[in-house]
Amino acid sequence: MENLEEKCREARGLLGQMPKAALGFFPTPFYQLQRLSKELGVNLYIKRDDFTGMNLFGGNKIRKLQYLIGDAMAKGCEYVFTFGATQSNHAMQTVSACRRWGLKPVLYLVAIVEPDEENLRSNLLLDKIMGAEIHVVKMEPGESEEEAEERSVRMAREHIKRLEAEGHHCYEVPMGGASPAGTAGFVEGYVEFVEQALDMGMEPDYIFHGTGTGGTLAGLVAGKVLTGSKAEIISINVSWKDEGYQERVRGLANRSLEMIGAKARVDTVKDIHTDLNYYQPGYEMPNEMAREGILLLARKEGLLADPVYTGKAFAGMLDYIRSGKVPQGSNVVFWHTGGATALFAEKEILGDLV
Ligand SMILES: *Cc1c(COP(=O)(O)O)cnc(C)c1O
Repeated sequence: MENLEEKCREARGLLGQMPKAALGFFPTPFYQLQRLSKELGVNLYIKRDDFTGMNLFGGNKIRKLQYLIGDAMAKGCEYVFTFGATQSNHAMQTVSACRRWGLKPVLYLVAIVEPDEENLRSNLLLDKIMGAEIHVVKMEPGESEEEAEERSVRMAREHIKRLEAEGHHCYEVPMGGASPAGTAGFVEGYVEFVEQALDMGMEPDYIFHGTGTGGTLAGLVAGKVLTGSKAEIISINVSWKDEGYQERVRGLANRSLEMIGAKARVDTVKDIHTDLNYYQPGYEMPNEMAREGILLLARKEGLLADPVYTGKAFAGMLDYIRSGKVPQGSNVVFWHTGGATALFAEKEILGDLV
């Protein structure tokens, strides 16, 4: 325990030397869900990163954006470019972070679900209210999501070239903020969580969260090796990933640790436990397990999860607990990453929730 405290102090010291733009409110709340604990037979805790701020619609990307915007400002950038789906939580949080620090947000958004310009909803509506420059990239016939994403990056880079030729400085944030600088935000998140658990005198056995671009997971696993914490991190995929995913997450975690100036490394992918069993039929496509999870969390605890990320992650966690993969009596943490704006997105994303 003392060792954990010491490691947290060291990690804080390293992180404190990185450029950082303050956003949101930390630490986020961490506490036990009494009623669900009783129902499930485990000690279920929740880490409320849906409460990062900086406005009502925060989420996990705010942690990454503190380091990304900090880096952009340290480099003297004026524009911030980023990517995602039209209903991207990351894009919307990037816009609010840019507005807070006086940077100009430019979004290249792939229309996986085609928005109705006459009836804008959810994050795309918020992006417009905050005045982001938005380029909607329509999917071409026969094009995969990955191909459309790659095309959106090429379009943005041409745009950046034009602006730089005019003497402007631009900062490119990859999808989900999954760069080494962004990942540092979740290293800090993990340290914050270890400190809170120590204060409560609880030793976490499992952490569940939803994983997409992998930046959150990279930061958590980097934080785990940095602090020497024993918790097993179980990451529920929210979209299809190939076999190289875990190795790429490991690489990102290690590049972030290197950037922070830490000696620790994630040596093997055995610390990275991802699960592709809960995202079907696809990204931004609802499923019955997530629906059941969303309704259970809402009706037992009055908390809201979303159909794209946290609903699927919660459903995965429920299955691990009910099937006994997570033993009864364990200390289980659900890391709530935000995303509730999707409850107000297009029907295709929401499904038949109620
Ligand atoms: C982006 C996002 C995730 C996944 O985070 P990654 O760092 O992209 O893996 C999980 N939940 C919500 C609500 C998100 O917006």
